[in-house]
Amino acid sequence: MKIALDVDSVLADVIVTWLDVYRESSGRSLKKADVNTWNFWKTLGLTRKQFEDIFTEAWVRWERIPPTENNLAGTVKRLRRLHTVDIVTGRTLNTVPDVKKWLSWQNIDYEQFVRVPTYTLKSSLEYDIFIDDSPLNIVGAADKNRHSILYDQPWNQDMEPHPVIYRVKSLVEAADIVEKLTPQKP
Ligand SMILES: [Mg+2]
Repeated sequence: MKIALDVDSVLADVIVTWLDVYRESSGRSLKKADVNTWNFWKTLGLTRKQFEDIFTEAWVRWERIPPTENNLAGTVKRLRRLHTVDIVTGRTLNTVPDVKKWLSWQNIDYEQFVRVPTYTLKSSLEYDIFIDDSPLNIVGAADKNRHSILYDQPWNQDMEPHPVIYRVKSLVEAADIVEKLTPQKP
């Protein structure tokens, strides 16, 4: 099977750096737990462009972006022993070189690096398993009968429980689930 593995907030805890950049430009200090809705930028009064510009600046500082958990390299290796793992991201084109540097810095190996246009649903791609923190991507994948694993984050707490969506607290937990999966009927 083929796995679509997300970067932002599944591997890279980029929101931490995003909040640093936001604090510098706005003077407002927020914690990760304050980011409790998917469209939190709207509640901050930001435009979508301002929101993306802060992300771009956060990725320019890729060496300051922490991983979401310990031993990501080992866990991704474990997933790759089971299935093909592609990095699938909705990152803007200008941040891609920095994302790749970060992955290499973290020793995270993958088959292909796939970028979908920002705000395009990843479920339009032919993957069997999606691991993502975006409720939109995960519900989209579940609706297409794909294995859908939601990486738990403060901004996806309000998602309704869904019979075919797994919610995981770590990539290790995702790998435990993937180990038991069999291909879905199309
Ligand atoms: Mg993400």
